[in-house]
Amino acid sequence: MSTSGLRVVWVYPDLLSTYGDQGNVLVVERRAQQRGLAVERIDVRSDQAIPTSGDIYLIGGGEDRPQRLAAERLRRDGGLQRAVDNGAIVFSVCAGYQILGHEFINDLGQREPGLGLLDVISVRGGGERCVGDVLADVDETLRLPQLTGFENHQGVTQLGPGARPLARVRLGNGNGTGDGTEGAWAGTVFGTYMHGPVLARNPQIADLLLKLTLDVNALPQVDDRWYEALRAERIAAATQAA
Ligand code: GLN
Repeated sequence: MSTSGLRVVWVYPDLLSTYGDQGNVLVVERRAQQRGLAVERIDVRSDQAIPTSGDIYLIGGGEDRPQRLAAERLRRDGGLQRAVDNGAIVFSVCAGYQILGHEFINDLGQREPGLGLLDVISVRGGGERCVGDVLADVDETLRLPQLTGFENHQGVTQLGPGARPLARVRLGNGNGTGDGTEGAWAGTVFGTYMHGPVLARNPQIADLLLKLTLDVNALPQVDDRWYEALRAERIAAATQAA
């Protein structure tokens, strides 16, 4: 962490920020500040260079065309890969998740190279778009409560041996391959199909990112009443609808 505090980088808000994914930045910022940390938030538009000295990088979802443009620019820039080499943490959602993999199918129906930061590939799902609420049990090594969010994607994602599923779905599609997995992670790089914004619905994931950055096992407690009310409401709604 630099002397200016925790550097939180919001990657390409002009291209990748669907369904309120920007809320993920607000939650990380707020929960860090509640623990007394100074936060420098850096919004990087797609015509700007990605700084390589950030601590936590957040990437949201996007429509197919902006997703291709974002992948082209991120490949050309190379900053995100260098940041990960420097030990940075990356948390990505949906289109952002697909971009972190080896490749995905773009809006022109062609294979588009990703950044190869996660050992996953995404293809176009043959069936209906995956849309709706998701409930999933998180990889037990991460020790996190059930994940709640919603998904809206056509791409489906296959994990290679270098990535672990972030969670296993109880409800919804997640990666959409029919194997019950949702999202992926390896080291300090995370991907999920969950919107919500996912960190507002699952603040313990924001805390996990902070703990990884600070290299600590625990953080001071904060008042989670509103988060818990939101979680309870969304889990009940999803369960009733199922
Ligand atoms: N365009 C991608 C897909 O449909 C991602 C969509 C999203 O980010 N919501 O698979």
